[in-house]
Order: sequence, then C-alpha cells, then structure tokens
Amino acid sequence: MLELRPNCECCDRDLPPDAPDAMICSFECTFCRSCVEERLGGRCPNCGGGLVPRPIRPADRLVRYPASTRRVVKPEGCRHVAESARPAGAARAR
Ligand SMILES: [Zn+2]
Ligand SMILES: [Zn+2]
Repeated sequence: MLELRPNCECCDRDLPPDAPDAMICSFECTFCRSCVEERLGGRCPNCGGGLVPRPIRPADRLVRYPASTRRVVKPEGCRHVAESARPAGAARAR
C-alpha cells in the first residue's frame, strides 16, 4: 500500500492525503510541487528517480487505510540536487 506521508521532505509543508500538489517517487519519497519544480528539477534527491503527482486516496478508503503520520524531512538532500543539477554536471552525462 502506498505510504501517504504527511509533509514535504524539502520544506516540511503539510501535504494532507487530499493535497492536489503532492508528488512522489517510486519509493514514496514525498514532496510538494513547488519544491519539485523549483529545487529538485523533477527528480527525487534520494533515489534519482522521477516524481509523479500522488494519487488521492478516496476518503472512504482513508478510514480503513489511513495516511502515514510519520514526518520525513531531509532538507540537505534538496540542496545537494540543486547543486548537482548545474550545467557542468549535465555536460558529462552519457
Ligand atoms: Zn516542499
Ligand atoms: Zn526517491
């Protein structure tokens, strides 16, 4: 089951289960859309994978399958990606 994390790993903004701007990677790392677009370049800083809009779990299912309450925050990862995403790094990509 998908882990619906309660916040953005970058800016620690609340992302409730029905947030339309929550983004996740295949490992369920969770970010808000503004961090993904402005700081992460569309890539997960933890695994390097792509990020997609998080599907919204219907409210009647949330009763039985509640969202996660464990907050995950890794602001240092966000900075790291912003630096490695500069043109110098892109030039030596295969
Ligand atoms: Zn954020
Ligand atoms: Zn990830």
